[in-house]
Amino acid sequence: MDAKMHPDTCVIHGGHRRDASGSLVTPLWQTATFAFPDCQTGGARFAGEQTGPIYTRLGNPTTDELERRIALLEGAESAVAFGSGMAAVAATLLANLQAGDHLLAAVGLYGCSYSLVTEQLPRFGIEVSLVDFADLASVEAAIQPNTRLMLLETPVNPHLRVYPLDPIVALARRHELLTVVDNTFMTPLLQKPLSHGVDLVVHSATKYLNGHGDVIAGLVCGRDEMMQRLRGEIRKDFGAVLSPHDAWLILRGMKTLAVRMERHCTSALKVAKHLQHHPRVARVYYPGLEQDNLLGNQMAAGGAVLALELEADYHQALAFADRLQLFTLAVSLGDPESLVQHPASMTHSPYAPEVRQAAGISDSLIRLAIGLEHVDDLLADLDQALAAVATQVETQGAQR
Ligand SMILES: *Cc1c(COP(=O)(O)O)cnc(C)c1O
Repeated sequence: MDAKMHPDTCVIHGGHRRDASGSLVTPLWQTATFAFPDCQTGGARFAGEQTGPIYTRLGNPTTDELERRIALLEGAESAVAFGSGMAAVAATLLANLQAGDHLLAAVGLYGCSYSLVTEQLPRFGIEVSLVDFADLASVEAAIQPNTRLMLLETPVNPHLRVYPLDPIVALARRHELLTVVDNTFMTPLLQKPLSHGVDLVVHSATKYLNGHGDVIAGLVCGRDEMMQRLRGEIRKDFGAVLSPHDAWLILRGMKTLAVRMERHCTSALKVAKHLQHHPRVARVYYPGLEQDNLLGNQMAAGGAVLALELEADYHQALAFADRLQLFTLAVSLGDPESLVQHPASMTHSPYAPEVRQAAGISDSLIRLAIGLEHVDDLLADLDQALAAVATQVETQGAQR
């Protein structure tokens, strides 16, 4: 049944095991530990001879259901939940790299993934090269004898550039490298990296999967042996466990993922088209604007994050963000509330100024995460803030 479910059904029913009480909703097992009926059973569970819960850092029935659901959606053999998206990214890298190894990471990665690979991992003897996955010849040239893994996001912040996964996977396979894709911006409803041969998918479940802005969580999906290692060694020993209560909230939030993504994407496209022709907007970055950008069958839609380059300087760009009323000034995405942020001073501030410059993250770039409000209200808010910037630019011009 599970394997044949449409994804829109799977977000509601996937991996659900009804318990003896018949509870419609997955019960919340809010407990740190589990009683063994007798010593023989306890010993057998520790020895792995018998399945059954031991201690919540090792596994919990509520969290297990979330893991089964995301694995079904991504088409993975299994999945492991973590206490944050960063814990999921870090665990994935720590499980597959060791001192002396080298990894290739995409330019423009999420700010903390960037500082993880450029500042934290080198302390443990792991080297990194930042590469542009749009230029596969240069990616291939950066491969060293000790290269083990490629880490990328598509679309990648903040210009929402997309990378075709098929040729990237082909290159990785030629050099026997593992591929890890952060699928946070797309969710499995819009893009399924494993179906393109990617080895591991990571998520910040904080974003669309939970969808209500009230939980921090991460997930990793992939082959059984890799997930067993992540669950039985990395999560167990490094300890970045997800609270069962948060797993329960995500299970609840995910039930509406399909309807939410539909609204998020339709509104984002309308906003992108509206802004494209505004005189104070130099450029709109949104993959959904051009069908070609969706890379054939790779992406079902453009998602709901977009960026705009304003015809404005640093201060005017900040004034625009401050002026918005319905958009909340906050760094996240995937919430019912639309959010606005300024990448140069916020999400991408961990990048050195010259790296930021080279990546084209200008001072007048603004990122919008489109929420679930009525799109007309969002357009009106954007228009009034843009009008205020226009007045400011004109006044300054007149004073000069
Ligand atoms: C938010 C985010 C993360 C980090 O997730 P947390 O849940 O905040 O730890 C990683 N990757 C991407 C693409 C993100 O948007």
